[in-house]
Amino acid sequence: MNIVETVAEVRNQVKAWRKEGLTVGLVPTMGYLHEGHQSLIARACQENDRVVVSVFVNPTQFGPNEDLASYPRDLQHDAALCESTGADLIFHPTPEEMYPKGFCSFVDMDVLTKELCGLSRPVHFRGVCTVVSKLFHIVQPDRAYFGEKDAQQLAVIRRMVLDLNMDIEIVGCPIVREADGLAKSSRNTYLSPEERKAALVLSRSIFVGKELAEQGETDAKKLVQKMTEIIEAEPLAKIDYVKVVDLMTMQQIETLDRPFLAAMAVYIGKTRLIDNFMMQAGGAVQ
Ligand code: AMP
Repeated sequence: MNIVETVAEVRNQVKAWRKEGLTVGLVPTMGYLHEGHQSLIARACQENDRVVVSVFVNPTQFGPNEDLASYPRDLQHDAALCESTGADLIFHPTPEEMYPKGFCSFVDMDVLTKELCGLSRPVHFRGVCTVVSKLFHIVQPDRAYFGEKDAQQLAVIRRMVLDLNMDIEIVGCPIVREADGLAKSSRNTYLSPEERKAALVLSRSIFVGKELAEQGETDAKKLVQKMTEIIEAEPLAKIDYVKVVDLMTMQQIETLDRPFLAAMAVYIGKTRLIDNFMMQAGGAVQ
């Protein structure tokens, strides 16, 4: 497995693979990889001849007061995980390689990005759409893999690919959790032992919400109320949002009569964590 830092090196490698008639999968990440990322890489390895993992803490998707500088990084660990999972290439560009002097083109999206995380992170999805578009153009994969952990991001990428006629199959992969339920996240490393315990309110609330919906609750307000109560009982937790939205449009709904996403963002101390579940009308998606 190779690690390369330049766009030219990725292009050369992918061109050589294409000449041999091989298919290519892409797994975009910000690094500090865990079993959640690993599940995407493993799936990509099953479904493609060659797999590229990008490891890039993308500055344009962080707001001015967010954790860009402190975001955890460990390329050596990431390389070992990628290699043992079967990836063929890590693309680890510098910010200057991705955003050279004079860079001023962005990919932006309406509607879907104006809800949920887009409300408290107004520049986030512009950064995500821009970097993912760039990665798609650089790697030109057959398939790209994204986690349902970032459900709004997955919906946004699916929409972008549709709207901009990108010939890439987007594959969504289920949330990987710790044994006690907490969704795996690179940001979990920020949590103190006390906060780590408190963070369990997210998954507890998600599981209760999912059970309620599975039992036939159709009132979105009641679902949100029950899920909110569970989080409010934890003194270290502060809710950013708990919402139920249409799975395609990310717009809030009142009745659970179509595929929906129940999603939350919650501060545990200073750390902002997200979790969610999705359901088709009458049955769980995950
Ligand atoms: P990140 O490095 O946080 O940008 O995540 C890179 C990709 O891994 C995104 O598509 C995430 O949705 C996915 N991912 C992160 N955590 C998990 C998890 N616990 N389970 C499944 N996918 C995940």
